[in-house]
Amino acid sequence: MAEANESGAGLDEVGLIRTIAERLKCRYETKPRYDEGIIGEKGHGPSLSEINGTPLDILVATVLSQATTDEKSLLAYRRLKDRFGDFARVAQADEEEITRLIGVCGLGSQKARHLKVIISALKRDADGLDPHLSFLKKLGKEEAFRYLCGIKGIGPKTAACVLLFGFDWPVFPVDTHIYRLLGRLGIIGEGTSRTAAQSKMNAIVPPDLVLSLHVNMIRHGRAICKSRKPKCAECPLLDLCPVGR
Ligand code: SF4
Repeated sequence: MAEANESGAGLDEVGLIRTIAERLKCRYETKPRYDEGIIGEKGHGPSLSEINGTPLDILVATVLSQATTDEKSLLAYRRLKDRFGDFARVAQADEEEITRLIGVCGLGSQKARHLKVIISALKRDADGLDPHLSFLKKLGKEEAFRYLCGIKGIGPKTAACVLLFGFDWPVFPVDTHIYRLLGRLGIIGEGTSRTAAQSKMNAIVPPDLVLSLHVNMIRHGRAICKSRKPKCAECPLLDLCPVGR
């Protein structure tokens, strides 16, 4: 690996990722994981300790968590779970009823439509709904990712969340906070799409860092590198960051 000076100059991309991961780990993993009411036990959407935690639960929770707060998506998840139990019945349920149940988390009719499509596809392709999505596990990482992205309503971030949090596979999801950080740190260029950013991260993040870096970048985006008014003076990445400098 390339040698680096203090500002990170001379680091190759993997070296830069390792440096960022180490600094964020020092900053965030010494704190309790539930501090600041952040993003759930494993780093996205509702706390996975509060939901059942099967890959299907994670998929449904991630769909509900799009463009809303953790509290609202968790409430929507609970309402859906209380009404439909194992989610298999969602495929046949009335779309308006689902919309009403999950409306608290916003985009209710779109999310209801997508959930029906997703659960119908999983039931069809797995010959019944298996909450552990075992058939996906047999496909392997790349094929499972392609399969999930082929279902309307599942984008690359949601697919990556299912594989990372559901199967413990090293697939790096890029959410809005991480995307912003990557742009400011110069890891992706201006105009790079979210999908391309995720592909790049999956090419350069060492597998052993995927989970912790994903969680800590989201924490950092929420706490320090905010969308408006980033707190650069408090940032452990300042010397590595063209925007902060
Ligand atoms: S220095 Fe500022 S812009 Fe750069 S990563 Fe840190 S908070 Fe964000």
